[in-house]
Amino acid sequence: MEHIVKLLSVTEVTHDVLSFRLSKPAGYEFLPGQATEISINDPEWKDEKRPFTFTGLNEWPWLELTIKIYTDHQGVTQEMARLQQGDELIIRDAWGAIAFNGDGYFIAGGAGITPFIAILRQLHHEKKARQNKLFFFNKTLRDIILKDELTWMLGENVHFMFTREGGSSPSDGRIGHVNEFFLKQEVKDFSKPFYVCGPEKMVNEITSLLAEMGVKAEYLIFEK
Ligand SMILES: Cc1cc2nc3c(=O)[nH]c(=O)nc-3n(C[C@H](O)[C@H](O)[C@H](O)COP(=O)(O)OP(=O)(O)OC[C@H]3O[C@@H](n4cnc5c(N)ncnc54)[C@H](O)[C@@H]3O)c2cc1C
Repeated sequence: MEHIVKLLSVTEVTHDVLSFRLSKPAGYEFLPGQATEISINDPEWKDEKRPFTFTGLNEWPWLELTIKIYTDHQGVTQEMARLQQGDELIIRDAWGAIAFNGDGYFIAGGAGITPFIAILRQLHHEKKARQNKLFFFNKTLRDIILKDELTWMLGENVHFMFTREGGSSPSDGRIGHVNEFFLKQEVKDFSKPFYVCGPEKMVNEITSLLAEMGVKAEYLIFEK
């Protein structure tokens, strides 16, 4: 089902990520981790649907999206960055495979953090976030989405990792990629759920590796 919603406000999250606050249709619901197909309600753009994840809490009276803007070509995100308060978007029903299925390990790359923002905010709200661990991979320090809030929610259980030199300092994070050595070092219990979201190649590599290391298929949670 389609709903027309209004843009209430836009705030900057990082140099290329914006947070959009949208009006919420009466009775609209999503599970933390779910996304919806979105388009801009304008004759030129309304058929250009793209998936984005709700990052707010269900009980908030508005909807929130956290979106990485690609300025290298004229796509939907570049157009969304131009929207003004009061402009309209079309949202559809919420869907998605990423949902909380017990305490475990979250591994995110870049904008792949968005379903985990929703899940971790909900867990934090229930005072349960710190029973989980987050490994958050970004190119450099300035690319980290909601660094302060994630640190506040997870304390010592958040680990910021950088894939490119030059953006980190020893107190802020480490350079690295996920490989068998990394997982053996960082993971104490492979019988827990693993939540993985990020670029497709990263998700494929990590989920294959975790499966080889004995993680049960039902505990590998990612967008298929
Ligand atoms: C289930 C799901 C949930 C998602 N949730 C979120 C979310 O919450 N937040 C978020 O930021 N993203 C999210 N995404 C990703 C998001 O859908 C894409 O970033 C978005 O569709 C990009 O739309 P676009 O029209 O701007 O770019 P598209 O045209 O769709 O291009 C996407 C990619 O291709 C590259 N590309 C395409 N054409 C060109 C070109 N001509 N020149 C250079 N590069 C090009 C872009 O750099 C980009 O990497 C989600 C994806 C899925 C599947």
